[in-house]
Amino acid sequence: MNSQQWIAKGDKYIMKTYGRYPLVPVRGEGCYLWDADGKRYLDFLAGVAVNNLGHCHPKVVAALQKQAAELIHCSNYYHIPTQIELAELLCNNSFADRAFFCNSGAEANEAAIKLARKYSREKFGPERYQIITAISSFHGRTMATVSATGQEKVQKFFDPLLHGFVHVPFNDADALRQAVTPATCAIMLEPIQGEGGVVVPDAEYFRQVRQICDDNNLLLIFDEVQVGIGRTGKLFAHEHFGVTPDIMTLAKALAGGAPIGTMLAKEELAEFFGPGTHGSTFGGNPLVTAAGVAAIRTILEEGILNHAEEIGEYLVGELEGLKRKFPVITEVRGIGLMIGAELSIPGGEIVKKALERGVLLNVTHDSVLRFVPPLIVGKKEVDEMIGILAGILAEI
Ligand code: PMP
Repeated sequence: MNSQQWIAKGDKYIMKTYGRYPLVPVRGEGCYLWDADGKRYLDFLAGVAVNNLGHCHPKVVAALQKQAAELIHCSNYYHIPTQIELAELLCNNSFADRAFFCNSGAEANEAAIKLARKYSREKFGPERYQIITAISSFHGRTMATVSATGQEKVQKFFDPLLHGFVHVPFNDADALRQAVTPATCAIMLEPIQGEGGVVVPDAEYFRQVRQICDDNNLLLIFDEVQVGIGRTGKLFAHEHFGVTPDIMTLAKALAGGAPIGTMLAKEELAEFFGPGTHGSTFGGNPLVTAAGVAAIRTILEEGILNHAEEIGEYLVGELEGLKRKFPVITEVRGIGLMIGAELSIPGGEIVKKALERGVLLNVTHDSVLRFVPPLIVGKKEVDEMIGILAGILAEI
């Protein structure tokens, strides 16, 4: 079937929860995708920061193929070697002591919320349950994570939301301090807001947040679902800010494109999740955790973090060049390959035109072009994208 035929059939059978672009990807390799008509696209979206190693990285593919032939699923009643290996890799490369595995970012955040509440209640008393999050944050689409999310458009229609979430402005330590009450148990933040428009906080912000947590016996939860796994040029984005959380959530890029989520915590907290407290049938299954081990090893062993940092600086420089030529770009910001270009107009038209010209871009928060290409992207691909974007900007 060609693209048009797929789109017609999809319009009939798929729920319309996404405003989908007219693209039917059927194959991917590195920074490129091919559609059902054989047209090639340069991918600067990477599944929204999922395909950090590019599409179908050979080591991830090999791990999936080998594991699929051996064992795809059994049960978390047993010990899963690939799950144990991935947990060890993540703990050895972070502040954390233990991992809980699930299947998505929202589920990882659900686990974090439940652990924070259980720990705080049992340790400090039943009145401790509130979690402070940020306005414009995004934490997922399940009921608890919708309640945690600081965006009305995500929450409307789904009342009543879960009780016990308080939203304060991001990058404002004073607002956070004032929001703390005897009911507060945790502060949950993205190190860089993704869906909120690629918002990078001041260097001092997280040091103050950590201090507020320490002064009030609060847990600090970092949602690294979008910015973790090398996206910013470090394995975890919070490393840039010199603070460590008590809990961290990961998903998207953790298994090279396979669906996975994890919630990592220090031992003092992890011990509050005993048998029967939380679970997930598919969480940490052999297939995805084998892919996760391959993905993390590749990122750590093949210089991908340094490359992401360098090529990110190059891309920011090129975007700054476009900003000087085209006043419609008002700001370029980001760390590593988590980059946003704020526009003075909605960005939808630019994304549509780029797609027609074979480049996948994305707009978030209405007017922020988000550049989250595979971390393996080279100067050649950056130049190709910048050339096409410059052509579009010259037309509008
Ligand atoms: N947290 C953040 C910061 C995210 O960006 C996302 C996804 N955009 C999620 C959570 C939810 O992840 P998932 O879609 O895998 O549930």
